[in-house]
This record gives sequence, C-alpha cells and structure tokens, in this order.
Amino acid sequence: MIRDLHTHSNASDGFLSPAALIALAAGNGVDVLSITDHDTIDAYETLGVIDDPGLTLIPGIELSTSWQRRSIHIVGLNIDLKNPELLAGIKRQQQFRDERARTIAAKLTRLNIDNPYAAVKTLAGDANIGRPHFARHLVNIGKVRDVKSAFKKYLGTGKIGDVIQGWASMTEVIGWINAAGGIAVLAHPAKYKCTTSKLKALLEDFKDAGGLGVEVVCGRQEPALTKQLAGLVNDFALLASTGSDFHHPDNKWSRPGGFPALPDNVTPVWDRW
Ligand code: AMP
Ligand code: MN
Ligand code: MN
Ligand code: MN
Repeated sequence: MIRDLHTHSNASDGFLSPAALIALAAGNGVDVLSITDHDTIDAYETLGVIDDPGLTLIPGIELSTSWQRRSIHIVGLNIDLKNPELLAGIKRQQQFRDERARTIAAKLTRLNIDNPYAAVKTLAGDANIGRPHFARHLVNIGKVRDVKSAFKKYLGTGKIGDVIQGWASMTEVIGWINAAGGIAVLAHPAKYKCTTSKLKALLEDFKDAGGLGVEVVCGRQEPALTKQLAGLVNDFALLASTGSDFHHPDNKWSRPGGFPALPDNVTPVWDRW
C-alpha cells in the first residue's frame, strides 16, 4: 500500500487542480492520498463528488505555525472539514496570510521592486498568496534567475520576505486539529535546519501540545535520514507518517507516491484511523 499523506494542489502553491492531482496519484499507484494545502481546505470543496477517484482520500491540511521564532509546518490528517474550531483557525491564518503578503510586498518595494502585491494576487488567483507566488513574480520581472534564487536572496529563512510573526502558535494549531478529530503530524522535520538537540526540544513541545505523528519519510530521501527519524519517533513514542510534499510534476524529488517505505520498527499514523 502506498500512502501519500502530504501533497499540494493549486488551492495553495501547487500547480495541479485537486482532480488532476488525484488522477496523477492514482496513476502512480497511490492507494491513500491526502491533499494538504497550506492553511486551506478549499481543494475539498472544489472537488465535489468524483465517481471513482481510484484511491482513498483522507481529508487534510498543512498549517503554518511559529515556534521559537522559526516557521514550523504541522499537517493535520483525517480532520473533520466542518469542525467550527478548525474553520475559525483557518480563517485567522488566511487573514494573516493576506496581511503578510502586503507586508512582504511593502518590504520588496523598499528594495526598488515595484509594489508587487497586485501581481502576486493575480498569480495566486483563487488561492491564498504564499512566498512561492512572490518567487514566481521575482523571476517574471527578471530580478532573479529562478525560484530557488528568489528564496535564497529575498524570501527564505532570515531574509527580508520571511515574515513569520503572526502565524498561530504550534499549540493552537495542534489544538484545532485535535478539536477536528484529526491527527497532528510534524511536517518535514529535516527541513528546519535544527540541530539534533533543537529537534528533540521541538518534538517534546510538539508532543506536549497533543501532536501525535512525525513525517519519517517526506519525498525521496537518504536511508540514513529515515533511520534517524524512525529512531526519534520511537524514542518519543510518536507515530510515523509518509508523504511526498508534491507541488509540481517536474520535481523528481517529490512525486506523488515517489518515496521510500516506512521502516518496520515504527507505528504508522494510519493505525489510528
Ligand atoms: P509560505 O507558505 O508562503 O510560507 O511559503 C512556503 C512554501 O514555499 C513552501 O511550502 C514551499 O512550497 C516553498 N519553499 C520554501 N522554501 C523554498 C525554497 N528554498 N525553494 C523553493 N520553494 C521553497
Ligand atoms: Mn508549499
Ligand atoms: Mn511545508
Ligand atoms: Mn507541504
């Protein structure tokens, strides 16, 4: 069974419509899929009823939080999409996302980049604005060569466009997910550039706040990392999740279903559905 429990559609910063994402995942042999867009569940509304999706869909979301002045992502799986506490939380995150977009635009304007708010709003369309939309705009106007350079120069951790104060705290976000009957999973723990002791402190706070799982596998990754993360979740008595963090079909490192299997010595999150 292939379970891809972390993917993005064009309801956030992914490129495929929810229906196209499901078709691609089913074609790749994915049995269980969650669409986990950044701070939105709109994909599930857009979808409507699909006669035969060819896989099992688990309702999900990826929520942005700040913890110790870092931006940390928490995936909520098997959530009740109608839970009022979760819906109120999502609304608050979306308001901050728009405020943040205006702040980032103002900061870039000070660097002689013509106020880009309107342009990123157009690029985002119906989706909430994310830093990838700013990155695409900076590429479009020739400020940088590619999206990667845009993050390196303007948008990545510690750069001018990295505005994080305003996201809900990790404790609040995990509270919303739990209120909605979901499982809170720490997304891509290797992407935070944490030392091992910092990562342990994060896992401790995550667990204290009611978090249940950790992405032991996120996209293609080295066996050594899988082993390290499996050891950590077992030490903390947490569950293990898997996903691709798929955004774009051209990215060979994160294709729907394209990642190694979980090691046998961990307890998977799906034991809890
Ligand atoms: P935001 O949700 O607006 O904070 O933007 C975060 C998103 O930006 C992530 O989910 C990734 O899709 C993307 N991202 C973050 N860092 C990079 C990077 N270095 N290069 C390309 N995309 C990135
Ligand atoms: Mn993203
Ligand atoms: Mn993320
Ligand atoms: Mn993601």
